[in-house]
Amino acid sequence: MSGPAVDRRLQGEGATPLAGVGTVVWYRPDDSVDLDEPPEDVDPEAELARFEEASETARTELEREREETRERVGEEEAEVFGAHLQFLSDPMIEDGVEAAVTDDGLPAPHAVRAAFAGPIEQFEGMDGRMKERADDLRDVRDRLLRILTGAERVDLRSLPEGSVVFAERLTPSDTAQLDPAVVAGFVTATGGRTSHAAIFARSLALPAVVGVGAGLYEVDEGTEVVVDGDTGEVVLNPTEETRARASGGLDAPVREAPVETSDGKEIEVAANVGRPAEIEAAVERGADGVGLYRSEFLFVDRDAPPGEAEQYEAYRDALDAFPDGRVVVRTLDIGGDKPVPYLDLPEEENPFLGDRGIRRSLGNDADLFETQLRALLRAAAAGAGDLAVMLPLVSTVEEVRAARTRLEAVASALDEAGVDHAIPEFGVMIETPAAVLMGPDLASEVDFFSIGTNDLAQYVMAAARGNERVSELRDFRQPAVIRAIRETVRAAEGTECWVGMCGEMAGDPDLTELLLGLGLDELSMSAVTVPAVKQRVTAVDTDEARELATHVASASTKEQVVDRLTSQGESP
Ligand code: PEP
Ligand code: MG
Repeated sequence: MSGPAVDRRLQGEGATPLAGVGTVVWYRPDDSVDLDEPPEDVDPEAELARFEEASETARTELEREREETRERVGEEEAEVFGAHLQFLSDPMIEDGVEAAVTDDGLPAPHAVRAAFAGPIEQFEGMDGRMKERADDLRDVRDRLLRILTGAERVDLRSLPEGSVVFAERLTPSDTAQLDPAVVAGFVTATGGRTSHAAIFARSLALPAVVGVGAGLYEVDEGTEVVVDGDTGEVVLNPTEETRARASGGLDAPVREAPVETSDGKEIEVAANVGRPAEIEAAVERGADGVGLYRSEFLFVDRDAPPGEAEQYEAYRDALDAFPDGRVVVRTLDIGGDKPVPYLDLPEEENPFLGDRGIRRSLGNDADLFETQLRALLRAAAAGAGDLAVMLPLVSTVEEVRAARTRLEAVASALDEAGVDHAIPEFGVMIETPAAVLMGPDLASEVDFFSIGTNDLAQYVMAAARGNERVSELRDFRQPAVIRAIRETVRAAEGTECWVGMCGEMAGDPDLTELLLGLGLDELSMSAVTVPAVKQRVTAVDTDEARELATHVASASTKEQVVDRLTSQGESP
């Protein structure tokens, strides 16, 4: 397979399992904030007033961008701008600017640059996510400098079609401006899979490679490139063959119908959705249904909870989008890392171990729970697809029974009032060690389990979700996490209870064979990974997968797990 031309390649980390072909457009925002030598005579009061005014403008911009990002990309991504707003009013920065103006006689722009230098350097010296905070600080600094110097903002919204943006780094404000309909992808010299740019790329379904290093700077504007967000390769001046492969989509083809393993076992591959707009993406990527509808997203970002009518519409719309499929709506999972201002949640020392999920629905939020159940039962009768209702953060059998009692009470009330409704499937998330240990008892209470590996890994390994220092421990390939999954499946064996997975682990195609071998019936993930996982499912042979799962689940260390996963097919 030799062609006349040889591809030149750069290697980075893939951020999205998608490929794109296009032309390099360099983005160098720092060029706009070069400063001249400071003048000798500076009026400190006037400079401080200038800084105040620039800060105010920056605040207004950030609030607007947070709102736009919330609508275009998502809630979680929008929160980056919340962090920027905090940096903007951080006393460390404000005092730093004041000292640079009054003590060192610097004009406002130079004072801003001086005040940010120390904190940026400090964060640069840290590991993982903390290191990436340095990018956030740069973003805030450059915004202030742009406002103070009146520099033009490079407009990423009006790039020519087929552009592949090359940059040292892309800040959240930069990435949020990229339009996936126009931009073919982006490549950055810095950053990793957890950097904001990578997260935004996944949310926007943009091919992206991050962390390519200094080699990136040697690539000229206008060069043709293939960006393979799966392997992390950036191919320069690609051969016809490479281009064709990428434009045909290195990304797996979208399969609208449900898929089977090579030996004929049908596996449901569903999507996780957080807000109504994501349902469309789930349909477009060929999801068989919704395996996790995070209903709390209907409750955040507003001043009062949605009423029964609004929720009913939202659930019915989801069911109508999947007339032949199932939609699993998780009841409110508030608390922990998901605050809702109008609910006046208690200040807790450790909110992840506190009043969250089903605990609140059976306690302080009982009224909200009842309204939600009414909306769900009515939607179950009206919508085209099949509804399933799922309880979050279950740790006892009593919680399940209490929730079922409430559901039955709501059904009786609707009956009496003559309101059309239906009883949906009823299941629980398995995301606490208690739920794993009580698996056999829970299996006889419910129709299904869905394993929430994001929380399960944090609780099994005692390693907080947002803490990069313990990310190694929280890895889904830890033997303890794999054994917790195995025990959950075993608990349901021989019962009517089916077992799915809706944590992030389900969306990793490299783990599909293992998960099917462990015995999962359904996998639910971000819509963007549905085609790749469906493709993997079709290649799995159930007997071989079981053998692999037995071998992997008996490993004593994560290293062994990784080895056994990568040497699939070889004898133990
Ligand atoms: C999980 O914990 O794995 C899960 C799917 O729920 P969430 O990420 O919403 O907590
Ligand atoms: Mg969870």
